[in-house]
Amino acid sequence: MIKYISTRGQAPVLSFEEVVLAGLASDGGLYVPDAIAQFSPHELVSMASLSYTELALRVMQPFIGDAIAEKDLRVLIEDAYKGFRHSAIAPLKQLGPNEFLLELFHGPTLAFKDFALQFLGRVLEYFLARNKQSLTIIGATSGDTGSAAIEGCRGRKNMRLFILHPKGRVSDVQRRQMTTVPDANVFNLAIEGTFDDCQDIVKALFNDAAFREKQKLTAVNSINWARILAQVVYYFYAGLALGAPARRISFSVPTGNFGDIYAGYIAKQMGLPIEKLIIATNHNDILARGLKTGTYAPEGVTPSLSPSMDIQISSNFERLLFDAYGRDGAAINALMHAKNNRKITLPPHVWEELRKHFAADSADDNATLATIKSVYETTGELLDPHSAVGVAVGRKCHNNKATPLVTLATAHPAKFPDAVTKASGVHPALPPHLAHIMKDAERMHTLPNSKDKVREFIESQS
Ligand SMILES: *Cc1c(COP(=O)(O)O)cnc(C)c1O
Repeated sequence: MIKYISTRGQAPVLSFEEVVLAGLASDGGLYVPDAIAQFSPHELVSMASLSYTELALRVMQPFIGDAIAEKDLRVLIEDAYKGFRHSAIAPLKQLGPNEFLLELFHGPTLAFKDFALQFLGRVLEYFLARNKQSLTIIGATSGDTGSAAIEGCRGRKNMRLFILHPKGRVSDVQRRQMTTVPDANVFNLAIEGTFDDCQDIVKALFNDAAFREKQKLTAVNSINWARILAQVVYYFYAGLALGAPARRISFSVPTGNFGDIYAGYIAKQMGLPIEKLIIATNHNDILARGLKTGTYAPEGVTPSLSPSMDIQISSNFERLLFDAYGRDGAAINALMHAKNNRKITLPPHVWEELRKHFAADSADDNATLATIKSVYETTGELLDPHSAVGVAVGRKCHNNKATPLVTLATAHPAKFPDAVTKASGVHPALPPHLAHIMKDAERMHTLPNSKDKVREFIESQS
C-alpha cells in the first residue's frame, strides 16, 4: 500500500485517505508519498490517445491504490470534470513556433484551481460518507482559492465551509463568485482586516485544539496532497499531445505557493520527459532570486497585477527541498526551525540539484502589461496577468528552441478585467454562463478582525 510521510520526519505515516482528511502534518511539515510510481516510455506511448479523464485515472491511481475502488474513482473523476466548458478540459493553443499555451481556465470559477478543488470536494464527500463522519472546512482567501473551494464543496454532504476574505479587498468578480452561491453549507465571512489577518485567524483556530477537535476542522489549501495529485495530470496531457516520450517539453508556470509547478516536478519523476520547469514570478520574486543565488531571503510582499502570486513563503517549496536534501526529514526539520528570519542558504549540492530541473525569473507589472499587449496584437489571444507573467518569463528562460515551450494559462482574462483592458484596450467579457453573478443577491457575514468572534460564529451555526 502507498504510504505518506511528512517532510519533517516526525508525524505519523498515513494512508491516502488519512492524508486527504488531515491536510497539514502534525509536525508542521507536508505529506509526500514514500515512493513515486513511474511509467516506462512504452506505457507513455499507450497513454497518448486517452481522454483527459481516462488519463487522470491512469496518472492518479498509483497514488491512491485501494483507498478508492477503481470504478468509484472513475466516477469521481468524470463527475469532477464534466462541468468544464471545453471538451478537451485542458486545451492547448499555439502562440508561435514551438510555443504553446495550456488553457487551464475552463472550469466553473475560471482558474486552474478548479482542477484540484472539483476533485478534492468529491473525494472528501466520498470518504466522509464511507466513514459516517462530517467536517468543517475553514480557509482564508485573497480571491481565487475561495471561489474554487466553494464551487468544489457547495451542496456536498457532511461538510460545512467557512471562507474568510478581507472585506473590500477582493475584486467584485471574485467576491460575487463566492457570495452569490446559495447553498446552505457555504458561509462567506468578510473580515474587517487584511488577507494576513484572515490567515492569522484561520491559523489560530487550527491551533485551538479543543475547537479543532469538536468541529473536526480541516483545510483545503494547496498543501493538501490530493490537490497536487490532480494537477499532475495536465502536464502529462500536454506533454503527450506534443510528442512525449519521443520529445522533451519545457513548461513555464506562473508561481505563488509552488503547488502547480511542484505537480510538474512530480510528473517528471513519474517519467514525463520534461527538460526545464520554469518558475515564473511577479516582482515578489524570492523564488527567482533564490534559484539564481542559492539564498532564499523573504523581503516582504507588495501588491502586483497578479495578486494570486503575491507570496514570499511558498508552502509547497518544502516538498521540493525534502527531495533536494535526499529526503532527510531531520535536515528539513532543522532548516525550518532555524532562527534566521526565515532565510535559507542552500548547500552547493542541493542548489545544483534544483538547477538541474528548474529555471526561474520574474516579470514586473510593466512587463506583464507589455506582454498582454504584444501577445494580443500578434495572436489575438487575451492573457490574464498571471498567464502573462508565465509567457514573459518563459520566453526569457527558454534557451533550447527545438523543445516546445508550454506556458500554463492559470486564469481567464475576465477575472482581471482592469489590467487586461489597460494593457490591450479590450474589455474581456465574463463568459455568458457567469454573467448572472453580477446581478444575483449576495450572502455574507461581516465580522470584526477577531478570532473569538469567528469562533463564536462557527459555533452558532453548528
Ligand atoms: C493560485 C494561482 C497561481 C499560483 O499557483 P501556486 O500553485 O500557488 O504556485 C497562479 N495563477 C493563478 C491565477 C492562481 O489562482
